Amino acid sequence: MSDTVERHEFGAEVGRLLDLVVHALYSDREIFLRELVANAADAMDRRRFEALTDQASALPADARVRIEPDKAARTLTLSDAGIGMTKAELAQNLGTIARSGTRAFSQSLGDAKPEDKPSLIGQFGVGFYSAFMVADRVTVTSRRAGAEEAWTWASEGQGSYTLEPAIRAEPGTDIVLHLKEDADEYLESYRLDHVVRKWADHITVPIAIVGEEGKEETANQGTALWRKSKSEVTPEQYTAFYRHVGMNFDEPWATLHWRAEGALEFSALLFVPGMKPFQAVEGERASKVRLHVRRMFITDEAELLPSWLRFVQGVVDTEDLPLNVSREMLQATPVLTKIRRAVTGRVLGELTSRAKDAEGYRPFWENFGPVLKEGIYEDHERRSEIAPLLRFHSSAVEGWTSLPDYVSRMKDGQEAIYYLVADDADALKRSPQLEGFRARGIEVLLLSDHVDAFWPEALARFEDKPLRSVTQGSVDLSKFAGETPEGEEAPASVEALVAALKTALGADVSDVRATDRLVESAVVLSASGHGPDLQMQRLLRRAGRGGGGMPVLEINPRHPLIRSLGDKVASESDITEAAGTLLDLARVQDGDTPRDPVAFAQKVAAALAAA
Ligand code: ADP
Ligand code: MG
Repeated sequence: MSDTVERHEFGAEVGRLLDLVVHALYSDREIFLRELVANAADAMDRRRFEALTDQASALPADARVRIEPDKAARTLTLSDAGIGMTKAELAQNLGTIARSGTRAFSQSLGDAKPEDKPSLIGQFGVGFYSAFMVADRVTVTSRRAGAEEAWTWASEGQGSYTLEPAIRAEPGTDIVLHLKEDADEYLESYRLDHVVRKWADHITVPIAIVGEEGKEETANQGTALWRKSKSEVTPEQYTAFYRHVGMNFDEPWATLHWRAEGALEFSALLFVPGMKPFQAVEGERASKVRLHVRRMFITDEAELLPSWLRFVQGVVDTEDLPLNVSREMLQATPVLTKIRRAVTGRVLGELTSRAKDAEGYRPFWENFGPVLKEGIYEDHERRSEIAPLLRFHSSAVEGWTSLPDYVSRMKDGQEAIYYLVADDADALKRSPQLEGFRARGIEVLLLSDHVDAFWPEALARFEDKPLRSVTQGSVDLSKFAGETPEGEEAPASVEALVAALKTALGADVSDVRATDRLVESAVVLSASGHGPDLQMQRLLRRAGRGGGGMPVLEINPRHPLIRSLGDKVASESDITEAAGTLLDLARVQDGDTPRDPVAFAQKVAAALAAA
């Protein structure tokens, strides 16, 4: 050691801190590069700022962060033309934890449970020390802008550091990482490129990586597009950015770009895709909107939007969080809660205004409607805002309709909004379930999305009108005049037939009764009372869960088939087999399977052969 080298001890807290950073964050250790690049970019911003009043600080025209791996020496060097540090600043910034936040950190450290420690690290600016996750020796040579002398700080991260005079031609900082045995990957320029693109793509300072032949390649795009004002951004730039963030190939359906100022400060640039992204709707459940803090990418797992808006892509960039925000903190911080609320409101506002243009809204609805519907049961608070955005097929109109439109078409005296849920959209239109409603001119919404079994019950009412499944047996249509079913009076034997059917079907039905809601069909199923509707009963059965109850078999006393069965009962013939076929027919009409498909097929084949 030459006599110009000074050795200094780290404070005890720094030692512990280093140990913690190195071990607690090990699984995410590539973030060391994010931290060092962020520091370099900050230093350049500060120099630019200082130059506003002091010409000596002016940044050189080609100012950039330069990242150079050296395989022979096994070093990784980060150089910047930033503000630099004096000897005292090196000692202060890298050798102590005098900064108030870090002192608080060291205090909390003693009390924290091991599992809480990573979250503590995240809450304080200790990014520089993350260099020791990949390096067993770090040297920092720095020259403060406006100063002549340069100094080198060096440490192995083990309790002490050294300071010695150095020479640096220009202001700025070089950080040399002597990589650990297992950190070879950071000698590969493609790996460095990947990490920079992932974490620092939108830093506005150019970040250049030196490749094998000594050629520099700029790794980041360097445009924080969302931070510009709308008038500065062209449609082409929006599209290019949209394609970049979401790996899309199409044009966005909606582009939302705004800046919130005041109590909460953030910029947001969000997109609703023009096409259904490959897996965003069905596969992924959580919002992948990216969180940035002062341009730096933090995470795409902050769930900045509720899952029922998970199709929205883009970036939210805030000033109100520290760069080192931890996962745990992301979950707890009120800043994010407020941002989430603001961003959700803004997206809903956009959808509400775009929904006024039926043709324009249609592609959005067809891509993402089923996802939006989830909001009805997942977000109690937003339910009434979401409901008018929903679109439906209906028994009365072509194309898509909405709840407000349905309500405007309701008949005098109609109290409920009726809907029918089944798996198959086409079968719905021809379902016998609708016969009675059609005959009386009452509109029914036709629902066939996977989520349709769930949300109507959660919404319960729209504009004070209850939502009612037509398969719920309590629907009473008798007060509405309609075309009277043709044919003679119901046969007198219907009561005996009902009793005989009940006996024959046993536990496969909860009840059998005559109905006046059928016109052309012989039978229909319904759910009894106020329990789950038919579709829900089916889902519960398929999931192997009880509790759904069994359907009610309703028979049309005027239908020739029912009439002849009535005659059979009157003449005391056995109707057990016929009863079973009747129930299976009713199930098939609703798009369900017969109870025993093979036996059912055999019976039908036998009947055909006999005919
Ligand atoms: P934070 O960035 O949150 O302050 P760090 O541990 O990352 O915490 O850095 C500590 C301090 O060291 C910074 O605040 C800055 O003053 C100084 N520093 C780090 N890297 C550089 C650099 N490349 N140029 C100038 N100063 C730097
Ligand atoms: Mg930092």
